[in-house]
Amino acid sequence: MLAAPGGAPVSGPRRRPSWRRLSLWGLLGGLVLALLATLVWLAARYEASQAQSNVERDGADALSDIRSALTRNVQDLQALQAGHPSSEAWQQQADQLLRVNREWVRIEWRGPRLEILAAAETPYRPPVFARLGRANAQAEVQQACATGRRLSSHAYARSHFVPQLDGLGLELMELCVPQVSAGQLTGYLVATYSLGELLAARIGPQLGRSQEVSFTEADGTRLAMHGLARRGSRVFTALQLLDLPGSTMVLRMDSWRSQPDLFPNVLTALVTVMSIALVTVMFMLGHDTRRRLQVEEDLADALAFRKAMEDSLVTGLRARDLQGRTTYVNPAFCEMVGFSAEALLGQSEPPYWPPELREEYSRRQTVRLAAGTTPPRAGFESVFMRQDGTRFPVLIIEAPLINALGLQTGWMSAVLDISEQRRVEELSRASQERLQATARLATVGEMASLLSHELNQPLAAIASYATGSLNLLQHEPAAADDLRLALSRIAEQADRAGRVIKSVHDFVRRRVQARELVAPPALLEAIMPLVNLQARKLGVRVESRVAPGLPPVLCDRTMVEQVLLNLARNAMQAMDEASAAQPSLLLQVRATAAAEGGQRWLEFSVTDVGPGIADEVKAQLFTPFFTTKAEGMGLGLSLCRTVVEQHGGALAFESNLPRGTIFRFTLPAAPGNPT
Ligand code: ADP
Repeated sequence: MLAAPGGAPVSGPRRRPSWRRLSLWGLLGGLVLALLATLVWLAARYEASQAQSNVERDGADALSDIRSALTRNVQDLQALQAGHPSSEAWQQQADQLLRVNREWVRIEWRGPRLEILAAAETPYRPPVFARLGRANAQAEVQQACATGRRLSSHAYARSHFVPQLDGLGLELMELCVPQVSAGQLTGYLVATYSLGELLAARIGPQLGRSQEVSFTEADGTRLAMHGLARRGSRVFTALQLLDLPGSTMVLRMDSWRSQPDLFPNVLTALVTVMSIALVTVMFMLGHDTRRRLQVEEDLADALAFRKAMEDSLVTGLRARDLQGRTTYVNPAFCEMVGFSAEALLGQSEPPYWPPELREEYSRRQTVRLAAGTTPPRAGFESVFMRQDGTRFPVLIIEAPLINALGLQTGWMSAVLDISEQRRVEELSRASQERLQATARLATVGEMASLLSHELNQPLAAIASYATGSLNLLQHEPAAADDLRLALSRIAEQADRAGRVIKSVHDFVRRRVQARELVAPPALLEAIMPLVNLQARKLGVRVESRVAPGLPPVLCDRTMVEQVLLNLARNAMQAMDEASAAQPSLLLQVRATAAAEGGQRWLEFSVTDVGPGIADEVKAQLFTPFFTTKAEGMGLGLSLCRTVVEQHGGALAFESNLPRGTIFRFTLPAAPGNPT
């Protein structure tokens, strides 16, 4: 049996979303949000580290630029002194160098005791030492040259601040290159660097708009800087140590972002877009789930509705798969056969098959399953057995069971218990029979006067023979011969009266239900005494013609005799009423020409020369209780037609030319008999 959808409420208020489901959805949402936040944070972190490594790289590049510039500058200075130039030539070359190297503010040629021999000032600014005097920086020069002397190489001094005439100041650093000739110190070249210009000239061109580069002391004190100090909230800093002989500084590179962007880079934007897509998909999923739940509910309702419908059905339903096993039965079917669903499901030879028919049923089932043809829509009749062993007739209507893919998965049968219908049919047949018997009695009643007339003759003859016999006995010694003759006449007449009574008795009483094979002449002969009875009274000439060699008919003899008698009596009455000139009745039996499906038919006809049937009568002829006669019941023809149709034949009438009517009916001839 199909299970009801698992635990789904059949009706009642719509289900509320359970807390469990809500919390699951909440958890999912929280997880997704956390994931997204983490992704955005990671993307921002990645971006920050990218910026940091950029600034580190720029810082390292700047440091190496400065180093190489400083080295080149030292070489330029040494080249200045090469070949012991004259004072003018030196001055000229120094001026030249100062024009090219903006970071230098002054170059001096000093003697071995640091006395100034020659000096050149940068052409780009007023003399730097104009305000305080060069002597103010003597300590730094001495320090640098002392270090240079000690190292036998160039050396720098710590930077120092020199205020300027314009109120500002410059951070300067002294470079001292000792001059050695043949192992003897001959003098010094002192170059004064402006740290700010050094940054501007050597790093400035590569510096980005959002970068700032500066020299600081180890403790962070800023000495000189270059770049636009445009502050933002996010600053990335790289520190590089610039250790020169005699002096150590820190090169600091700052890079900043003016505003942290909402989508700082492609990665973050991508992650954000994907997050939005993810959230959208989540919402769509939620929507889809809601719709699914709705559909599930509808489905459960539909299933419940279907189940209620099946349970309320009085028609038995049974489904079988393609192997003939029962896959489903409804409660009505279980009730009909008296077996539980469990006892029926999965059975290919179900227990409601009567044992004596089991073999035939299973053969039938095999044939149908193999053929796979659709059984007739009208259904077929069969016999089932209840659990208590009683058999009952059923009407089975089968239809193929098609699944959602359009494939046949078995057969669905609707089974109707037709025992009640059979009982009603039986009842109506019995009442029909009673009606027939009543009609027969009525016929006899109508014939009572004829009977008395017919019986009068033999009875009168018997009476007169009896009187004669008594007279014979009274007057003279009995003449034995006369007496014997009279008694034999009495016996004859009594016999005749008996036959009359018997023919009536037979007609009324005979009730053999079963159909039998009867020769057509026998049918006519059986009614002849009764027909003649009336014919004699009405002066009708009766003729019967039976074609030779006719096969017997398979019929309910009594019924067919009654039909014949009815038609003959109707004919004679019609002729009598119309006072026909030469009333004659013709009873005829012959074989019909048509023989469809090998079935032969015999046609019985009753012909009269009466008035014929009026048109308005024709329409109602077979209507029960329709009669034109004062004492008529109007049942005759309707019963006749019922009887003939029960035998499979047809009753019809037509006009007889020039006068009268012919009633014809057909009956099936017995099969296999010679004509
Ligand atoms: P009933 O004989 O009791 O009247 P029927 O059903 O046998 O009932 O006949 C119905 C009517 O059909 C009759 O009343 C009569 O008018 C008409 N009828 C039947 N047979 C003939 C016939 N051979 N000729 C003329 N009329 C007929």
